[in-house]
Amino acid sequence: MHIQLLSIDFDGTLVSRAGEPALDTQCMELIRELQDAGTMWAINTGRSVDLLESGLTDFSFPIRPDFILTSERDVFRPGQNRDKWEAFGDWNERCARDHAKLFNSAQSVLAEVVDFVNQKTKARLLYHSQGLEGLVASDDEEMKRITEFIEQARTKEPNLNYQRNTVYLRFCHADYHKGAALAELSRLTEVPRENIFAAGDHHNDISMLDGQVAALPSCPANAIPNVKDAVRAAGGYIAQGEYGAGVYEALLHFAEK
Ligand SMILES: [Mg+2]
Repeated sequence: MHIQLLSIDFDGTLVSRAGEPALDTQCMELIRELQDAGTMWAINTGRSVDLLESGLTDFSFPIRPDFILTSERDVFRPGQNRDKWEAFGDWNERCARDHAKLFNSAQSVLAEVVDFVNQKTKARLLYHSQGLEGLVASDDEEMKRITEFIEQARTKEPNLNYQRNTVYLRFCHADYHKGAALAELSRLTEVPRENIFAAGDHHNDISMLDGQVAALPSCPANAIPNVKDAVRAAGGYIAQGEYGAGVYEALLHFAEK
């Protein structure tokens, strides 16, 4: 099996949440070797471009990704000045337009969610310049109650969906998620599904691990049960090792096939 494109989640997958060391040396070395051999490496994250850049610096990443897929939706490639990222194609523009339209038509549903969150939970709502972005729940149980409420409220506005990562939630258009961003990168780079490796640990990774976009899905041992179920159902690889050690193990598994 020839791996041509890697789509790897950042927090909780490449980067350990369990403390130091944050990065697995063998994993980073293997990714470097794969890059040298022509494999393209994308980080597929819920982080914004700026937060991902600070992450790459904070954790002293020894190598740079070839692409970054950020905020669970946008697709970037290196710009002329290789330190800066630029939109790859017109995807990000379309994505922004679809979200502006959605948030406009979903105003009343979002208002219901805001009321529920303010009155029935201790969760904190997150806003950005264009309005409501998402929320942070106090714990998993509270997040479960909130997502149950959203599931019922969104039946009136099916295009309104959300991405969930631990206690963080981001509202989004149902057509945009990590899997959709990866599908666009697959189209732009002309790497078919069969040659795409993906690794992730949480709810927001499932869209790239269900086998639809990447034929070589995997998760580290610390992944949540829903992710493991999705990877198993897609015939992927569930690692014994956690975080980067698990990614390393999964890469070796598929590289040797
Ligand atoms: Mg993660």
